[in-house]
Amino acid sequence: DRLNLGVGAYRTEAGAPWVLPVVREAEARLLASGVDKEYLPIDGLAAFNDATARLLLGDASPALAGGRVATIQGLSGTGSLRLGAAFIAKFLPPGTTVYCSDPTWGNHFNIFGDAGLGTKRYRYFDPATIGLDFEGLMADLGAAPPGSVIVLHGCAHNPTGVDPSREQWGAIADLCASRGLIPFFDVAYQGFASGDLDADAWAPRFFAHEKGLELLVAQSYSKNLGLYGERVGALNFVLADPATAGRVLSQAKRIARALYSNPPAHGARIVAAVVGDPALFGQWKVEMATMAGRIKAVRTRLAAELAAAAPGRDWGFVTRQIGMLSFTGLTPPQVARMTAVHHVYMTGDGRISLAGLSEAKAPYLAAAMADVIKEA
Ligand code: PMP
Repeated sequence: DRLNLGVGAYRTEAGAPWVLPVVREAEARLLASGVDKEYLPIDGLAAFNDATARLLLGDASPALAGGRVATIQGLSGTGSLRLGAAFIAKFLPPGTTVYCSDPTWGNHFNIFGDAGLGTKRYRYFDPATIGLDFEGLMADLGAAPPGSVIVLHGCAHNPTGVDPSREQWGAIADLCASRGLIPFFDVAYQGFASGDLDADAWAPRFFAHEKGLELLVAQSYSKNLGLYGERVGALNFVLADPATAGRVLSQAKRIARALYSNPPAHGARIVAAVVGDPALFGQWKVEMATMAGRIKAVRTRLAAELAAAAPGRDWGFVTRQIGMLSFTGLTPPQVARMTAVHHVYMTGDGRISLAGLSEAKAPYLAAAMADVIKEA
């Protein structure tokens, strides 16, 4: 019955890793076409960069039509964030601070810190509601010095699974505009969170198109295409004018050249093949919706099982949260008892990955959670 809920990758209902059939098909076509192993250009595969920017900003993007976007292929989400961090460290004024949500994906602090940047936290999560601390967030960002960089999770916030509403995103964008803050979106779950590529890219599109903000966006294909080990992603800069976009791309390439020369080809070719073929693109959307749908079904089942096992509590947060991860609100001693007594493994902050759970095992998890809540 033991459960590993620390996993950071999609698992099937049977608990196995899943290579998307559309990826297998794209790989078969690549092999058949006899692709070589030559270097890519420093900024990556052109067909990939074109596809990834359009997936992010939409086919009708005014920023893309205006030539105001600089896109460089990166080493998945992590490497794209790191490239953006190096750019900020090199070209923004000394002392520029990077604000990350409290809590955030732990690697954010490594990434920006190792690039030599100072980091601070802004309030995000309210344990009392197991939801967003919107007032705290607005107060902390409102006090950040102009020119600060604000790291925002595009969708499916890691680790909480709590996202701002569209109205709240609007207020955050207005604050960035009025205070001169620079948004840096981390988009690691586009299409994987809701099953819909457009819905999951709403926030960065809104900031770029409706609010006219300049911003950075790191993208990852680890989750939505299951390309974890292929390291495929991109860094995008949306800028005020095409001349700036040209200069920014040139400087980003200069940084990439010194860090790793040029990015890996295989995963980028898979993305370009999938997005470039209408049949494969359609198949990907179905498979993405399958992953998102399984996770939503597990959430629904878990919420129902918890309501039955521990009826005294409001378990609505389980289905309100989005994406693979859920903050349970369990305290460290409760988490310790989950592991020691029930053999349920999760991070010490009470975060679980729904990918590690199946509908069949939801009753076991709910009973264990009900038990540790009673004990504490
Ligand atoms: N950002 C967030 C918020 C993540 O959750 C992840 C994956 N755990 C990443 C970035 C980067 O993942 P990768 O480097 O595999 O794209």
